[in-house]
Amino acid sequence: MFWLICEVKGSSSYLFDLGKIVKKHSQWQNVVAQIKPFYTVKCNSTPAVLEILAALGTGFACSSKTEMALVQELGVSPENIIYISPCKQVSQIKYAAKVGVNMMTCDSEVELKKIARNHPNAKVLLHIATEDNIGGEEGNMKFGTTLKNCRHVLECAKELDVQIIGVKFHISSACKESQVYVHALSDARCVFDMAQEFGFTMNVLDIGGGFTGTELQLEEVNHIISPLLDVYFPEGSGIKIISEPGSYYVSSAFTLAVNIIAKKVVENDKFSSGVEKTGSDEPVFVYYMNDGVYGSFASKLSEDLNAIPEVHKKYKEDEPLFTSSLWGPSCDELDQIVENCLLPELNVGDWLIFDNMGADSFHEPSAFNDFQRPAIYYMMSFNDWYEMQDAGITSDTMMKNFFFVPSCIQLSQGESFSTEA
Ligand SMILES: *Cc1c(COP(=O)(O)O)cnc(C)c1O
Repeated sequence: MFWLICEVKGSSSYLFDLGKIVKKHSQWQNVVAQIKPFYTVKCNSTPAVLEILAALGTGFACSSKTEMALVQELGVSPENIIYISPCKQVSQIKYAAKVGVNMMTCDSEVELKKIARNHPNAKVLLHIATEDNIGGEEGNMKFGTTLKNCRHVLECAKELDVQIIGVKFHISSACKESQVYVHALSDARCVFDMAQEFGFTMNVLDIGGGFTGTELQLEEVNHIISPLLDVYFPEGSGIKIISEPGSYYVSSAFTLAVNIIAKKVVENDKFSSGVEKTGSDEPVFVYYMNDGVYGSFASKLSEDLNAIPEVHKKYKEDEPLFTSSLWGPSCDELDQIVENCLLPELNVGDWLIFDNMGADSFHEPSAFNDFQRPAIYYMMSFNDWYEMQDAGITSDTMMKNFFFVPSCIQLSQGESFSTEA
């Protein structure tokens, strides 16, 4: 593992290991080669991420005109782009039509009508709901039509003369029930049969995202779906299987380094309320960091982001650990990043490292406020570099922006390798 700490204008910063993305892709090809990945751009649209994936030959799933333009600038052809926004603006549908992005998802009559009016060459994937997203706390925020409603949507498509080319569903990574895949795939088969009655020839099945990035999970999902695919969508049936992985590719590639900017010591007995005083007078530490929920930890506000800090400075194995809590810089009570963890005593200026920050912290929400994104530092190990060369992948942006980290080195302030350069 390589460590690198960059202090730029006192902001937190990311270390982006491009090799991880290449590795994820070869893992994908080893485990589920029969499924073509369309990377979901909204998860992390850092230019070098898109460029390396384009070089690796993945497709792209875009939710907006901006995202479509981003990947097209990299020379990705329109057939390798799906427009996946569930609520499409008319102007963006027109844009897709203009630039030749034809494949798009749709889950209702209302959306279908917009598509019919504004995109004569649209090839639509009917987005069906899964048990993962029917009901539940966030039920009203999820998308996809019910199986019952599919017939109606297909009827409308026939009337409006919109081409339906396949089915899409999405199962979130939070869903651990293999039954959900079983039902989703059999529902999808149902819709394929239904569509045939209407005279549509469907040839694409999109199994969505929800892959966490561990090889184990990918293998588990494959273990569940591959026998079902064999039955419902066998090879030779002419049906192309695609997917929309997001976090899978980027999560582990980004590591966030944050700085401790303030520290408070609290009496321990305040915390052990109700418990008889143990006589322990160990302090409890409250640390404030230079990044929080109004920045890189934005997803903490809406999901269970389980942030696990690592201490960057070296400390002795037998150094005492103290109950600590970690907060962002806003002094807002929502801005708590880690409620309770055990850490050696830290000082202002010390760094904490958070792994697997490539997906959660790059989601849209943080773009809504004035938050200035931390600088991104690119790196790749020599091994990964040679592997990539062997695979014949080269990339201009990458060459411009990244540097090798041969061993444990520390960059000091002022040595800038950021993309903004
Ligand atoms: C966000 C999103 C994805 C990617 O989800 P991951 O869990 O990160 O793989 C895929 N499809 C749709 C429609 C999405 O909104």
